[in-house]
Amino acid sequence: MRPARALIDLDALRHNYRLARGLGGGRALAVVKADAYGHGAVRCAAALQDEADGFAVACIEEALALREAGIRKPVLLLEGFFDADELALIVQHDLWTVVHAPWQVEALERTPLPSPVQVWLKLDSGMHRVGIDAPAYRDAWQRLRALPHVGDIVKMSHFARADELDCPRTAEQLDTFAAATAGLPGESSLCNSPALLGWPQARADWARPGLMLYGVSPFPQAHDVTAQLRPVMTLESKVIAVRDLPAGEPVGYGARFVAERPTRVGVVALGYADGYPQFAVNGTPVAIDGHPGRLIGRVSMDMLTIDLTDHPQAGVGSRVELWGDQVPAAQAVAHSQTSAYRLLCGVKRVALQYRG
Ligand SMILES: *Cc1c(COP(=O)(O)O)cnc(C)c1O
Repeated sequence: MRPARALIDLDALRHNYRLARGLGGGRALAVVKADAYGHGAVRCAAALQDEADGFAVACIEEALALREAGIRKPVLLLEGFFDADELALIVQHDLWTVVHAPWQVEALERTPLPSPVQVWLKLDSGMHRVGIDAPAYRDAWQRLRALPHVGDIVKMSHFARADELDCPRTAEQLDTFAAATAGLPGESSLCNSPALLGWPQARADWARPGLMLYGVSPFPQAHDVTAQLRPVMTLESKVIAVRDLPAGEPVGYGARFVAERPTRVGVVALGYADGYPQFAVNGTPVAIDGHPGRLIGRVSMDMLTIDLTDHPQAGVGSRVELWGDQVPAAQAVAHSQTSAYRLLCGVKRVALQYRG
């Protein structure tokens, strides 16, 4: 069997959730959209079910998968419903929905529901992706408040640049939120992972941590809280072939690596079709049987190559970690023109194996 696999440490996931929730000081929805950033939404939600206040997903398909797996905690649809037809399902499965656009307010007005739905009314405080514009927010809130089939209304917004700790934009968005929601009763929710970690003034009743739950920092720089996160995923495979090359010989597609010295090349059964970044550069860190090593040559679809010259003890069958306990995912990110988000949610084809 192909040895590529992602080990998922559910104890680490719980540890990171507790850290995130404690930091926010209120409650926290564990964001498990995109199959829990590649970690498997059902297994991750089940592991958090006893302690999480609820979960957040991108769409009703993701929410129903959690319900079908027996997850009973609140589940929030972060983009709300895509079509008014979903409202019946939202009530039937006891989901919470974001409302981010005027048409969604109108759809709720037109659609009587058998029991009240909890709404998270999203303000566009400056990201300009989705959300109700500030001048229209109060009117949207009041129209929803007047509906008997709308239960609690949580005021929410989302930050565009919270990962840039010296950028004034987050504080400006916060001011916009405070002004647009002034005097409206009810709870608030603002923070994603970078805001929770970097912007204490944005903490509110509900946090929405995603990335940090999986043990990866949203910041490029060192940070005392992110140092306490534990990596949840370890992506690994094995060496399946070894080549000895004289100096001057190339390795792989495009000859992107040319041996400068006699080089022992290890071929690892894992490639970009498994989610490893295709454009990781020569020298991207890996761990070879627990020892620091490096990627050489261009990553192929199903294989990649590493330098075994200084690892004489390693050979066919050696375990190679691409990221996880020994190689922080952030290091793979720093060497491959991608983001931690895309790195994690791009993992596919490999078997997910759970412990904890
Ligand atoms: C994805 C998402 C989050 C989680 O963001 P992280 O940066 O992964 O913590 C929070 N809120 C909304 C609206 C999102 O779409």
